[in-house]
Amino acid sequence: MGGMTPPRTTEAAIEAQGVSFAFGGTPAVVDVSLRVEPGEFCALVGPNGSGKSTLVRILLGLLQPDAGTVRCLGVEPRALDDRWRIGYVPQRHALAPALPATVEEVVATGRLARRGWWRPPSRADREAVAHALEAVALTHLVHRPVGSLSGGEQQRVLIAKALVNEPALLVLDEPVAGVDASAQRAFRDSVVHEVREHGAAVLLVSHELGAVAADLDHVLVMKRSIVFDGDPFELAARGVSLGVHADDLPLWLESLS
Ligand code: ADP
Ligand code: MG
Repeated sequence: MGGMTPPRTTEAAIEAQGVSFAFGGTPAVVDVSLRVEPGEFCALVGPNGSGKSTLVRILLGLLQPDAGTVRCLGVEPRALDDRWRIGYVPQRHALAPALPATVEEVVATGRLARRGWWRPPSRADREAVAHALEAVALTHLVHRPVGSLSGGEQQRVLIAKALVNEPALLVLDEPVAGVDASAQRAFRDSVVHEVREHGAAVLLVSHELGAVAADLDHVLVMKRSIVFDGDPFELAARGVSLGVHADDLPLWLESLS
């Protein structure tokens, strides 16, 4: 026994095999297989309507695929009981304008599933909330009602809420669309921190990858099916540079097939 290498048991953060889904008769996701490793920063890109958000919802167990299998943190996503290990920011999820809660309170709700709602917040909870708000550069707005924030600021509140548990898997669906450059940099820093310091896997759906181009480990390009699966250097070899083509990425993706 001594000296034998144990079998590799590392479980993928996300693994999909042959996943397909149609709305009515219209295919949105066709035979998608992919793997995102723990500690990997992965971008999912593709033209509008190419099925990215639909795929994300399937990967998280929010939609049941017509065919194929998904495993998320090692289990079938609907069977995952500690869902707080996944941070998810859905696309264009506006907070209710009348929501009578402060920024701090909304982010703190991200801790509830982990802590149990019946327990008062601990010092660790309060520190985690403060830390997450710092990561998205919202500390100055902590006591403001969320309804009074701009759309971009509300989006950052939701990112903070997703970060607050130091999730094992962070899934962000176009989190920075329309957010200004300095907020994008703060976002980049917080996501890279989660990946590098806590070993989280991050799946980022975005067209605005200029800020993170140098940090990505893995890129998936989707047009209903996956048409590219590799690292940013291989993508550059196929004529698409995430740094150079940051502003018109969807156009450049058209050239891949
Ligand atoms: P992406 O996120 O890449 O922009 P989506 O996954 O949102 O793409 O959409 C993929 C395709 O599925 C599009 O053609 C879209 O119109 C369609 N679609 C998305 N949601 C629905 C829905 N709830 N009902 C019917 N069709 C939908
Ligand atoms: Mg989408």
